Amino acid sequence: MSAAETFSSRRTRLAAALAARTGPLRVKKRATTNLFRYATRPGPRGDIDLGGFNHVLDLDRAARTLEVEGLATYEAIVDLTLPHGLVPLITPELKHITIGGATVGIGIESNGFRHGFVHDGLLEAEILLADGRMVVGTADNEYADLFRALPNSYGTLGYILRAKIRLMPAAACVHLSTRAFTDLGAYLAAMQAATERADVDFIESLIFARDRLFLTLSRFVEQAPATADIVHGNVFYRLLAREGDVDLTTKDYLFRYDPDWFWNIPETTPYRLFRRFAPASMRNSGFYKRYTQLKRRILGALPPHPQNEEPLIQDWEVPWERADELMRCALDNADLGGKPWIVTPIRALSTPTLYPVRRGGLYLNLGCYCHVKKRPGEGDYYYTRLLDRKCFDLGGIKMLYSSTFLDEPEFDRIYNGAGYRAIKRKYDPDGALGTLYQKCVLRQ
Ligand SMILES: Cc1cc2nc3c(=O)[nH]c(=O)nc-3n(C[C@H](O)[C@H](O)[C@H](O)COP(=O)(O)OP(=O)(O)OC[C@H]3O[C@@H](n4cnc5c(N)ncnc54)[C@H](O)[C@@H]3O)c2cc1C
Repeated sequence: MSAAETFSSRRTRLAAALAARTGPLRVKKRATTNLFRYATRPGPRGDIDLGGFNHVLDLDRAARTLEVEGLATYEAIVDLTLPHGLVPLITPELKHITIGGATVGIGIESNGFRHGFVHDGLLEAEILLADGRMVVGTADNEYADLFRALPNSYGTLGYILRAKIRLMPAAACVHLSTRAFTDLGAYLAAMQAATERADVDFIESLIFARDRLFLTLSRFVEQAPATADIVHGNVFYRLLAREGDVDLTTKDYLFRYDPDWFWNIPETTPYRLFRRFAPASMRNSGFYKRYTQLKRRILGALPPHPQNEEPLIQDWEVPWERADELMRCALDNADLGGKPWIVTPIRALSTPTLYPVRRGGLYLNLGCYCHVKKRPGEGDYYYTRLLDRKCFDLGGIKMLYSSTFLDEPEFDRIYNGAGYRAIKRKYDPDGALGTLYQKCVLRQ
């Protein structure tokens, strides 16, 4: 049986399960999640299980396209395509992010200055609608309106069962070269100039303070004298927090922040031993996420974070012209306890209905993936609110995978509420899948 027939038989079984169900569509997906909410919301406990839609289906090497089921992880995708010298245009840095989740949740990477967001590489999507229909959307067919509204819809317009995506050529290794800056203006100018260079494939930067800024420019290379071991030998982000050159295998580069969950695996002695000796199957974000979920189940809830700390897990994007203002706000106000902010330039290649970035515009993406220290008197989610406010005031936008505290009128203004209501009326008139505001702000 070919992989494509397997998809078709899974779809047939799904259709039978949909026909037999009573009540509204409620799905579950049986995979690790990369949603991060400061307060937990009830997990998806649906009666329709989409977990089986996790296969990589069909690679067309000549056309450089891949057909893949919506719940396939990026690791499964790269494992299939990389031996053929191809990878997705944008590969999110955590192995267990799925193609469906990254499409509806605005996936990014260090080559976004060239290839935009994850959704910019999407050619076709087969979508399970709230009424149980399965439709195929492309940029120019009868479901083009749904296709354009998928990015930032977070499953509230339907579920991607199958996607067809673009691929790009990839060499065996990536050569990373890091330069230190002590001046914000010079650093931003160098980053912007790099977006115009044909010999640069990836741009990313870790920043610690206004005068401690590291810019890493990377490119594919066929061979490297030696590649760094980032699973057992090194804490990856430390290799970029100093000037110098490093080589990685391409797979390690694509998932470079996975072994240390960015910089969230402690660097204390027990964890040093864990890092050194744990099998690779335990040195990945999927394992850490499952471990955290298990702990939550056993304890009922995770212990609250200390009063003087706030989890700040967010990505903000501002038009390039306002980049230095967002960065100053972050660097001057928030204390990450020695951990970095992460910065990457992204050129938006389209204007999705629900993520209205300017087509062709260059944006600065600022990410924070750790805890921030709070001073006495700073209220609930003080830094999240502070940086959100700054970002929106600068004409920026942020991803919604984490917590958001906007009121509904402002949320509507930023995320095109009018456009959303129109598409929702057409594809989920009874609101069976909930609304974006309910899901991303009210956590219902
Ligand atoms: C700690 C952390 C690190 C992150 N790092 C990165 C990163 O390096 N690069 C990056 O690009 N992004 C990153 N993200 C953001 C991530 O891409 C989004 O949260 C994405 O939506 C996660 O996808 P998932 O596959 O894990 O899906 P889930 O977390 O399970 O689901 C995310 C949302 O998408 C919906 N969804 C899932 N599958 C489908 C589907 N097939 N069809 C329709 N809707 C679906 C779910 O209903 C849910 O609302 C990070 C997020 C966190 C919390």
